[in-house]
Amino acid sequence: MEMALFDIMGQASGLPVAELLGGRCRDDIPLSFSVADPDVDRDMAMVQRLYGEGLRLFKMKTGFAGHAADLKRMERFRKELPADAELRIDYNQGMVTHDAIRQLRDVEAFKPTFIEQPVPGHHRAALAEITRALDTPILADESVFTTTDALQVASGRMADLVSIKIMKHGGMLAGRKISAICEAAGIACYGGDMFETGIAHLAGTHVIAATPNISLGCEFYQAKYFLERDLLAEPFPIENGRVIVPKTPGLGVKVDEDRVKHYAVETLK
Ligand SMILES: [Mg+2]
Repeated sequence: MEMALFDIMGQASGLPVAELLGGRCRDDIPLSFSVADPDVDRDMAMVQRLYGEGLRLFKMKTGFAGHAADLKRMERFRKELPADAELRIDYNQGMVTHDAIRQLRDVEAFKPTFIEQPVPGHHRAALAEITRALDTPILADESVFTTTDALQVASGRMADLVSIKIMKHGGMLAGRKISAICEAAGIACYGGDMFETGIAHLAGTHVIAATPNISLGCEFYQAKYFLERDLLAEPFPIENGRVIVPKTPGLGVKVDEDRVKHYAVETLK
C-alpha cells in the first residue's frame, strides 16, 4: 500500500519517488548476487558469467554444509575470480554460537568485505563479541527488524553494518528510519531483499537512491536472474552490474497486467 501511494504521488507530481524522499544521492547502485548452490561448479560458472556482465559483488551463503566445505568454496572463489570481485559471506544465522569466533577467524583469511549474521538473531551478546573479536566488519540482518532493535544494536555497537529490507522493517519509510539510527552510530547499511519481484526491487531502489547511508550496494537480482517471469512489463533496469535508478515519475513501474491476473490469488471488487 505504501509503495502504491508513493507511486501515485510521484505520478501526480511528475517526480520520481527518490525525489519525493528528499532527493537522489546516486543514479545507480552496485548489484550483489548471492550464491548458495551446493553444486560448487555450477555456482562458480554463474559467478564467472556475471563477472563478465560487470557484476563485482558476490555474496556466498554459508553455514549449511559445514565449516570445511565453506572454506573450500571460499578458496575456490578467491582462486578463480579476479581480485576486484568482492566476496561477502552470509551465514543466515547458521553458525554454532559457541564456536563462531574461532571458525570466523579462518574465514577472515579469504578477505571478505563483510560477514553477515553469523549467529541467530536473538544471540545479540554473542554478535557483539564477534564484532569486537574480528577485524572483518560484521553485518546484522536478522538481529535488526524494528527501530528498537536498531537502537540497541547501534548504541551497543553490536555490529558494524546492518541490512535494510523494506519487507523486514515494514515499509520504505520504516527502512529509512532504521538507516538513520544506524547512521548516527557510524553503521553503514546494505540493500537486502526477501525474494521479491521487480515492483519491490524498484521501491527499494528509490529508497537507496535517496539514502546516502545505504552505501554497500543491493541484492535486487531476482527479477532478472532468478524469476522465470517478473510482473514488470519492461525488464528490471540493470546495466554493467549496477541497478539504474529510474528518472521517470513515481516508482517507474510498468506492470504486465496479464501476468498480474495470472498470478493473482484474490481480486478486490
Ligand atoms: Mg541475510
